[in-house]
Amino acid sequence: MLQRTFSIIKPDAFRKRYAGAILAEIEKAGFKIVAIKRLSISKTQAEGFYYVHKDRPFFPSLTTFMSSGPIIPMVLEKDNAIADLRKLMGATNPANAEEGTIRRKFAASIEENAIHGSDAEDTAKFEIGYFFAGYELA
Ligand code: ATP
Ligand code: MG
Repeated sequence: MLQRTFSIIKPDAFRKRYAGAILAEIEKAGFKIVAIKRLSISKTQAEGFYYVHKDRPFFPSLTTFMSSGPIIPMVLEKDNAIADLRKLMGATNPANAEEGTIRRKFAASIEENAIHGSDAEDTAKFEIGYFFAGYELA
């Protein structure tokens, strides 16, 4: 089933100029880029995005990191996009990520892990709407 997911190239990967290489991996894996932009977000905006993690110990550090520099949010489309992007990304901690995954190749640590991907249909919907307006997705 053709499905959309939401992804972010995180500030660590942008800073290291891995954005192009990560986009190449995503396209090679068969995803279509439906919408994409570059922007920087405030700490408050990062807190809104990661609200589900508000009670986790890493929340303050994560939201400081996500607001530390430019990011590239995007909407991606493919059959089974949500699960397939998670597979392509690899485990949250790059030390545990499988060979060939984006995090294995480009991530530095469990926090600075290069890429975000939605984990379910409802979170994908919320996350797409957080960064993109309807007219950008038509
Ligand atoms: P994402 O939601 O960014 O796609 P994920 O679903 O693999 O990643 P989550 O558990 O949702 O992982 O955590 C969200 C993000 O918070 C992680 O990608 C990482 O940047 C950061 N994070 C998660 N666990 C830790 C931790 N133990 N210490 C520091 N940062 C963490
Ligand atoms: Mg997550």
